[in-house]
Amino acid sequence: MKPDVEIYDTTLRDGSQGEGINFSVADKLRIAERIDAFGLHYIEGGWPGSNPKDIEFFDQAKRRKFKRAKLAAFGATRRKAVAVRNDEQVRPLLEAETPVVTIVGKSWLLHVQEVLRTTPEENLAMIGDTIRYLKDHGKFVIYDAEHSFDGFSDEPDYALATWQAAEKAGADLVVLCDTNGGRLPEEIARVTSLARGRLDAKIGIHTHDDIGLGVANALAALEAGATHVQGTINGYGERTGNCNLTSVIPNVALKLKKQCLPLASLTKLKELSQFVDEIANVRHNPRLPWVGSAAFSHKGGQHVNAVQKLARTYEHIDPALVGNRRIVLISDLAGKSNIVLKAQELGFKITNDTPELKTILARIKELEHQGYEYEAAEGSLALLIRKILRHEQAPFTVGAYHVSMRRDGPESVVEATVKVRVGNQVAHTVAEGDGPVNALDSALRAALTQFFPQIKKVRLTDYKVRILDSTTGTAAKTRVLIQSTDGAAEWGTVGVDDNIIEASLQALVDSMEYRLMKT
Ligand SMILES: [Zn+2]
Repeated sequence: MKPDVEIYDTTLRDGSQGEGINFSVADKLRIAERIDAFGLHYIEGGWPGSNPKDIEFFDQAKRRKFKRAKLAAFGATRRKAVAVRNDEQVRPLLEAETPVVTIVGKSWLLHVQEVLRTTPEENLAMIGDTIRYLKDHGKFVIYDAEHSFDGFSDEPDYALATWQAAEKAGADLVVLCDTNGGRLPEEIARVTSLARGRLDAKIGIHTHDDIGLGVANALAALEAGATHVQGTINGYGERTGNCNLTSVIPNVALKLKKQCLPLASLTKLKELSQFVDEIANVRHNPRLPWVGSAAFSHKGGQHVNAVQKLARTYEHIDPALVGNRRIVLISDLAGKSNIVLKAQELGFKITNDTPELKTILARIKELEHQGYEYEAAEGSLALLIRKILRHEQAPFTVGAYHVSMRRDGPESVVEATVKVRVGNQVAHTVAEGDGPVNALDSALRAALTQFFPQIKKVRLTDYKVRILDSTTGTAAKTRVLIQSTDGAAEWGTVGVDDNIIEASLQALVDSMEYRLMKT
């Protein structure tokens, strides 16, 4: 299926420029894999010329296989008065070894004169040289025309000349950007349609949300003939953020009715949105259109009543189409089928009629109420389902543990002891660590390795803590998410408690149990 509209994700580059967003290399790889599995067409991984973290990301990404998405490295046109082959910012773009390179360049004469401080002709040469050089190296080149609409509004002929320079040099796509995010849909549509008439290259659109029109502007451009749209998951990005793909994608598929992604992918949209929030350690926004937890929740009595008679009385679409669900006071069939789907996806044989399903559902609801979340903790979810479905006991129990810390001058010593029971055998171990969780992890692993040698390979790759709102006036709860690997697979687990150590231990125990479950 050739899509009418291609989706280009820049969560890892433009999105990571948002306030409060900071991804590690491991985070970026996880997000890229998830976006690829979801089925987006392009993933912009970062700007390898600008920081070592992005270089490392591309180094690691080279060794992974993406099923569908093409990976793009982002950079700028060559600097003024420097030959492109000597430009140190351009070289890392080739070294990233991605099939796609995206280059940003200037459309706005104001920027050429005041920021680059060069001549209009040199800017055209910078665009042309860089694109030609990348094409000569076999790249698919996307040209991001920065400030397209501001530039066009000031000096239409010059803006157009820059886009034509990109096209002439062989750019595969010319992407019009509303970089400052202040333009209105009508002018976005008008300029896009003009560009489409004047260029043979495919046209894309990249918008920002500074006046709350990021998504509207992207849709306006798509209706005016653009066939490629750039944005970020959950609208992360500089200032008020980028065009939000979690809105654009369903709007394109369900409202504009253009071919974009398989409809089956769409049902995983909410999950993707929550996953990326979890990784970014950002609280999920309940009011996000389409994917927010409140997007289909009905509170007013009249609404609830009408929705139960006929859902479309107060719903613009069936929430299941985007993996969301209706929240009403009674009846929760959507939740049930979600769990069945998820359990099947995790490899369990389960249907709507499985007798244990009710218990599983009740348990998940209870735990979610306590603050557990399973979007980024499928290891814990798989364990929970398995224990109920197969009436299994845990392979081990932690009978007792103790963590202590003391400081003596600059030196601090953290020590943990753990007592683990397997059948009627007991192991008692002690370990030191850099911090309480690290010490606990070492002690637990030392104990378990005596019974299960395969645990030796397990190590923590990530540890995240979130303080949950206190709604009852009691102490706030702590949610701990950990990510583990055994070198081959990766999995996430979760723990929740008033006490951070206890929450961490739960997540650690789940992690080890999950590894044992697989053997
Ligand atoms: Zn941008």
